[in-house]
Amino acid sequence: MSEYKLGTKCLQAGYQPGNGEPRTLPIIQSTTFNYESSQQMADLFDLKESGYFYTRLANPTNDHVAAKITDLEGGAAGMLTSSGQSATFYSLMNIVGAGDHVISSSTIYGGTYNLFAHTMKGMGIDFTFVEPDISSEELAGYFQENTKAVFGETVANPSLDILDIEKFAAAAHENGVPLIVDNTFPTPILCRPIEWGADIVIHSTTKYMNGTANAVGGVVVDSGNFDWDGSADKFPGLTQPDETYHGLTFTESFGEAAYITKMVTTLMRDLGSIPSPQNSFYLGIGLETLHLRMERHVENAEKLAEYLNNHDKITWINFPGLKDNDQYELAQKYCPKGTSGVISLGVKGGREAATTFMDNLELASIVTHVADSRTCVLHPASTTHRQMNDQELEDAGISADLVRISVGIEDIEDIIADVEQALAEVSK
Ligand SMILES: *Cc1c(COP(=O)(O)O)cnc(C)c1O
Repeated sequence: MSEYKLGTKCLQAGYQPGNGEPRTLPIIQSTTFNYESSQQMADLFDLKESGYFYTRLANPTNDHVAAKITDLEGGAAGMLTSSGQSATFYSLMNIVGAGDHVISSSTIYGGTYNLFAHTMKGMGIDFTFVEPDISSEELAGYFQENTKAVFGETVANPSLDILDIEKFAAAAHENGVPLIVDNTFPTPILCRPIEWGADIVIHSTTKYMNGTANAVGGVVVDSGNFDWDGSADKFPGLTQPDETYHGLTFTESFGEAAYITKMVTTLMRDLGSIPSPQNSFYLGIGLETLHLRMERHVENAEKLAEYLNNHDKITWINFPGLKDNDQYELAQKYCPKGTSGVISLGVKGGREAATTFMDNLELASIVTHVADSRTCVLHPASTTHRQMNDQELEDAGISADLVRISVGIEDIEDIIADVEQALAEVSK
């Protein structure tokens, strides 16, 4: 559906029923699929034929939803995972192993930081964290012989730093490795990283994409643009024969779908982080209104940010859509229609005042979640990022007084009134 605009794709891409088939995407809640001969099944196992045989590897409901997101991102192939965390993990494990090195922006989601700095480090993979505003020259100096990928977040959760995708993509490509971008906050409605040079895009679909907070999920989308064979010795898993498939070579057999096909047929086969088809169905419904919801999230966040800017109970406010924000220029470049509905701020009086403010909110709820249709708030230093020490917090762009407000799509008058009365309770 590449000729259509994004809103049309939200509704129509990924599933086009044939004559007499169900108009809405069916939930194929079956672990297994039926075949007439064992030869047909054998060919599927050898990847000689494509088809479904076991939901741990692939399922039609999941695939149709993955196809919709792939189309929205302008990618070549995509795969759903059971969570955003597994999407991040798979996107790297598909191309790195023990002894390898990855460069990551330091302003990333707390769960991603733990995955990289602790769990994957324990698996023998080394990470270097760099400030997103690092110069190209300095960035070039961090590449090593064993560097296999560069990672960053388009709009960082929760610091809201904008990734200069072109700068990171250029550095990655000069060194023959791909750039992987987590595009959870802007969604493809507000930014399409592939157009700026990202090779692989991942999401926690749990957030705006699902929109209703009823299913955890993730997705990996490959642009199909990266030349794996051009860096063949760095990526043997893609460019050399795979013994578990009788010596098949992924790049040779699958072309621009090589990266995702390898991910499905090796990582998903072996680790099995498949989403339930039921959850993918909910995600598919969420995606149908993504374009409308993102527009309203941005509009509401802009209005709330304007209200809070210069408010006497606020020490600072961070929203890349405000003209005096240090990320404004980058935000205008990469996300001209808005960065997301997320605002962060410091309440006068620090950690304690932040808690008073949050506890007095009536409409907005305190949840770990973010990027939901309903307005919600979180204090990252004591929740999502509590495993980090003060230095790690500072490096990730998070202060102890930071409150993150994820502005929903309710009526903005009600959201502002709620914030107003809760701020009035602070240090009365
Ligand atoms: C939530 C989040 C994740 C992790 O996703 P889950 O679906 O919770 O596993 C990764 N990246 C970002 C930017 C997130 O906000």
